[in-house]
Amino acid sequence: MVNSTKIVEILNNVTDKINDKKLYLTELDAAIGDGDHGLNMSKGFSAVSEKIKCDTDKDIGNLLKKVGMTLVSTVGGASGPLYGTAFMKASIYAKGKEEISIEDFIEMMNIAIEGIKMRGKAKKGEKTMLDSLIPAYEEGKKAIEDGKSPKEVLEVMKNAAYEGVEYTKTIIATKGRASYLGERSLGHQDAGATSSAVILSAIYDSL
Ligand code: ADP
Ligand code: MG
Repeated sequence: MVNSTKIVEILNNVTDKINDKKLYLTELDAAIGDGDHGLNMSKGFSAVSEKIKCDTDKDIGNLLKKVGMTLVSTVGGASGPLYGTAFMKASIYAKGKEEISIEDFIEMMNIAIEGIKMRGKAKKGEKTMLDSLIPAYEEGKKAIEDGKSPKEVLEVMKNAAYEGVEYTKTIIATKGRASYLGERSLGHQDAGATSSAVILSAIYDSL
């Protein structure tokens, strides 16, 4: 089980890892978008870490709601409202909970993904963050059903997310700025799918 103190620690690790990958994410976005994804994510998660620095609220729902609202209000690009929606949807599930299990986490992923799909009107296979998040969710759910430990489940999720990132190189973007390039988006990996994998990898490392 994970409490709000641990979640603050995990979120700070996410911020550190996103900051480490800032240039990389920006370069990926520059190839088929406008080159601001690393900057956007770094700005958003740095604001999140600042916001939750002195947070003493034990309710994980309240904490995640703050995260979502901070991302929506600080990130200019398309990714801000999408990641923001993901955290806000997950916060509804976590409302009133002072601890969450790996089963809770996978359910929150499911709800977050549904939120992203609705907000961005996208589905799997359109070269977006969903192409790493959906396989991570599906493989994580299977791993739980197979009786794997939380750490093993998160490892499976992280690996599935990075495989999803590789998959984005093989498909044409039909959503977001990269869709303006059509076939020229082939061969390039999606920046948002990559940041999602970075986030899952930071969660895995924190446990
Ligand atoms: P912008 O495209 O406004 O510059 P960012 O560069 O921060 O915003 O984010 C781009 C990423 O957002 C893309 O790499 C993609 O993964 C994701 N994205 C864009 N549009 C959508 C959408 N409709 N649904 C899901 N993800 C999307
Ligand atoms: Mg961009």
